[in-house]
Amino acid sequence: MGLRRQRAVIDRPDGFSRGRGSRPPCILFTDLDGTLLDADTYRYDAARRALDRLRDQAVPLVICTSKTRAEVEPLRMELDNHDPFIVENGGALYIPDGYFNFTLPGSSTGDGYRVIEMGASYPRLRRGLRRIEEQVGVSLVGFGDMTVGRVAQATGLAPFEADLARQREYDEPFLVEDRCMPLQGIREAARQFGLTIVSGSRFHHLVCGTDKGGACRVLIACYRKEWGTVSTAGIGDSPSDFPMLAAVDRPFLVERPEGGHAEGVGVEGLTRVRGIGPAGWTEAVMKLLGPRSGQPDFLLVPPLPPSMC
Ligand SMILES: [Mg+2]
Repeated sequence: MGLRRQRAVIDRPDGFSRGRGSRPPCILFTDLDGTLLDADTYRYDAARRALDRLRDQAVPLVICTSKTRAEVEPLRMELDNHDPFIVENGGALYIPDGYFNFTLPGSSTGDGYRVIEMGASYPRLRRGLRRIEEQVGVSLVGFGDMTVGRVAQATGLAPFEADLARQREYDEPFLVEDRCMPLQGIREAARQFGLTIVSGSRFHHLVCGTDKGGACRVLIACYRKEWGTVSTAGIGDSPSDFPMLAAVDRPFLVERPEGGHAEGVGVEGLTRVRGIGPAGWTEAVMKLLGPRSGQPDFLLVPPLPPSMC
């Protein structure tokens, strides 16, 4: 079932309210690497069952990632996903044309999207990385310093995927050559130059005042403007996801490949699910949507209260 119905709903979100008198049980924001995608293989096979549940219930699935637009677009196509998406740790928000029935102030148009740019330009980040490096006296190796081959080696991506990962606009992933160098000193130097560092599942990322949470809040405001009250949920695995998890009603954290959950999270109502990456993602979606009711009408499935998770 579902695919045609979901397409109709997602391409015309107003259909939730006008066609069926209600709306989906929630909007789900998700990280990719180490969360929906396996940290090593970048596959989502273990999450297929949960993806089917979301599709059946027409839950908007908003990808919120450190990946580039060039990386996200093929994945959205593969997933048959037509919802907005957030790239490069909140650097930009892409909303398909016509998704909302109102104009988006501050957005630009291009390639079938309304685009809200929130991050600084990539050249500014590259200059900032060099200045921080000079300040702390430790070599910082960004994607802009690496060949496609080295990015492929560092990430485990195929060379053509590494090429997509290097097409950056708002966020510079980097490694610290001297791993003994405390990150705090690098953070402090970045702050002096008006930049911030967020830590993902594999790299540190240099950004300019953006994070996943800011972009999520902008998008949640759009959904609420369009539909009124909406319930939101988020799934992540690393500290760079904490702002996203803090922005939603139902935050979930999956386990890391090395075991256990990322530490340092202070997100109210956080549910730490069992399962690494996409296995944990499936667990989170099942907790979110509740046991399958057998009812074909997705509108009958309410989100569980946090106390039941
Ligand atoms: Mg991650």
